[in-house]
Formats: sequence, C-alpha cells, structure tokens
Amino acid sequence: MSWFKRDKGNGDKLPPLSDKERKVRTEGLWQKCEGCRQIIWKKDLEANWNVCPKCGAHSRIDALTRLKLLLDDGAFTRFDTGLRSSDPLDFVDSKSYRDRLAVMQQATNLSDALIAAQGSLAGRAVQICAMEPRFIGGSMGSVVGEMIMRAIERSIALAQPLIVISASGGARMQEGAVSLMQMAKISAGLMRLDEARIPFLSVLTDPTTGGVTASYAMLGDLNIAEPGALIGFAGPRVIEQTIRQKLPEGFQRSEFLLKHGMLDAVVPRLELKQYLATALGFFMD
Ligand SMILES: [Zn+2]
Repeated sequence: MSWFKRDKGNGDKLPPLSDKERKVRTEGLWQKCEGCRQIIWKKDLEANWNVCPKCGAHSRIDALTRLKLLLDDGAFTRFDTGLRSSDPLDFVDSKSYRDRLAVMQQATNLSDALIAAQGSLAGRAVQICAMEPRFIGGSMGSVVGEMIMRAIERSIALAQPLIVISASGGARMQEGAVSLMQMAKISAGLMRLDEARIPFLSVLTDPTTGGVTASYAMLGDLNIAEPGALIGFAGPRVIEQTIRQKLPEGFQRSEFLLKHGMLDAVVPRLELKQYLATALGFFMD
C-alpha cells in the first residue's frame, strides 16, 4: 500500500521492516471509530470533518476546524488572542497552573480554551466562539469568560447574532471561584443580548458538562446538539453513586436529552451550517 514508500528498483535489496519500524511508519495514519470500532484511514475521517463515513459517529474536532466548517470560505477574523490568565490563586496541583497553561499554549497555539471570531455564515455576519476541547479539557476560566463576554458586547454593538460552540468539561478548577463567577457574568451578558433582541444560538458538542452546561450552553434561543454528544452537569458515574440507581441507556446523550425536552434539536455536523443559517433567517429576517 502507498504509505510504505519503497523504491521499486532496489526495493528487494532493502531489509524487511522490523515490527518497530512498521509501527512507526503507520502510526497516526489510522484511527479506530468509537462508534463502529472499525479502523478508518485518518485522511478519510478528516475529509468528512471527523464524522465516521461508515457509521456516522461524530468524533471531536478542534476549534479552528470548527470555524472553518461553519464560516464562508473558512475565513474569519479573530479577537482577543492576547488574553491570558493571571493565575489568581497561584494554584499548584500535580504541577503549577502557570506551567500547565504554558504547555497548553504551546501545544494548541491558543492563549486559552476558546477562539472568538467574526465571520460570515451563509452570507450573514456573525459573532462566533468555538471552545477548544484539547486546552485543559476545554475548561472555562476567566479568559474564556471574558472572551465570550466581549463577543456578546460586539454582538450588541454591531447587531450581529451570536453563536457559541461548546466543548467543555466545565469550570476550570485551577481558578476556583473566579471560574465560577464567569457563569454569572456571561449569563448577565446574555440577558442584555436578549433585551437587545439579538439571537444567541448555542451548539453543544461532545462533551458539554459542568458549569458550561449550567450557564451559557443552555441559555440559547435555540440549544442545538451534535449527535451522540455527552451533555450534563455531573457525570453519569457520580450520579449513579449518589442516587444508588442504574441510569437508563443513553442517559445524558443528545438524543435522550432531545426526547426529554432539554434540547431543541440534534443536528448532524455536516448539516449544522445550513441549520444555523435557516435558524438565523427565522430570527432576523
Ligand atoms: Zn464508525
């Protein structure tokens, strides 16, 4: 197969690959689908925006890819890229929060767990925020809170709708109460957006939990989820241990939540842009 690039002319002169070499050369080319357990060529998966071409399972995508998927020509202007947490508690767990941030900033090339941008969605100017699940679990601290707040303010000033795509484990423990305060701050901002009669569409992706679910992710004029996303406040294991009961099948997944009235729609990733465009037309035209 093509990824073993061996020269045809002297190919039979090359020694056979050891198991270790084989592993190195094919590493990262294939990915196992969490839905159907089939092995899929990573390029096929990426070409399909990380939706399994065989079973339709949605695996996670990063914030940049998300914006490229939703915005016209994949183009957008970013805001507040220089905001950084000041580590208000001087927090240390297995390593210092300061070091953790530095490692994450380098690995993701982002200052924190969110990209705030302005772009065009099917011809309509929008303010859009996408959370980055790789950055400390997409957790919400002071920087994420401030970036969303500023996006709300731009929405109001420019009369442009707001879209927030959540992918988050919740509030960032390393910032303690400061991270929890973001819930109230953003909720108050969304209230002002509502008073200005500007729509806010919340898109919940896998996973959206904790303080993010308990604040802005559930405050959309429409709360839209991707298929199969884990959405909840506390995780299923914690709930089972607390109530000492087995939870029903599919509990805290998008489809279950839609059925029980917690969501307005479950929309496949490849139809999301069209869905958002239609919804914005409904709210604004
Ligand atoms: Zn699959």
